[in-house]
Amino acid sequence: MNREELSKKVITVASQVLHDKQYVSSIDILLGLGYLSPNILEDWRRVRFSYLEERLQVNLSQLSFTMKCFRQWAQTQGLLPRETAYVQKACSRIIHLRFSKSGNEMIETCYRTHYISPILTEQKQQRLVDKIEKSNEPVVYIIASESKCSQCKKEMAKGSFLMMDEDNPYCISCTVYKDLVFLPAGNALLTRRTKKYSSQSVVVVKFSRARKRYERQGLLVTEKALKKAQNELEHG
Ligand SMILES: [Zn+2]
Repeated sequence: MNREELSKKVITVASQVLHDKQYVSSIDILLGLGYLSPNILEDWRRVRFSYLEERLQVNLSQLSFTMKCFRQWAQTQGLLPRETAYVQKACSRIIHLRFSKSGNEMIETCYRTHYISPILTEQKQQRLVDKIEKSNEPVVYIIASESKCSQCKKEMAKGSFLMMDEDNPYCISCTVYKDLVFLPAGNALLTRRTKKYSSQSVVVVKFSRARKRYERQGLLVTEKALKKAQNELEHG
């Protein structure tokens, strides 16, 4: 693909994503162009390797050209740049996910910037930003095979909750989420109500071999919030 074709492709992908979501991120562009696969993205979010560029299916000169096209397109569309944090709140500390090999702050900022549709009202823009930031929140995995906690060394049976911190598995007891309880998906009303009351909530996912993707199983929430919501729905 020559530069002109590539530039057209970037614009096509970006316009489509903007149309669907009202914002575009560099991750969307990388996925849309096939430089990044959803599995690699998930591994990066789990901090299973150090920086995203390492696993992209594109050479660096093509990549920087792509990013340049994307930024120029966003500017000409009058989109609003918003820098978003990409973090993994694993266990007790926050890990900032890295995009580039160099780790250069300017390059990282470019990658982290989302472009938001100016058509939205300010309130809707803020809601969108909140949603984007939420999607970067931690996840807990239900494991399909036995594992061992790298902290307390306890054996974790199949079906246990696990969190990743870099490449190390942690049992829930060894994380800051140890006091949360599991609320399985399926009762939308209860989930919504509990989430509203819970000061913390963590998404629980499980890998589906058949569908080759992570599927949502429920949430970890505070016990107090769950009881309050259950009580309300029973008596109200
Ligand atoms: Zn442990």
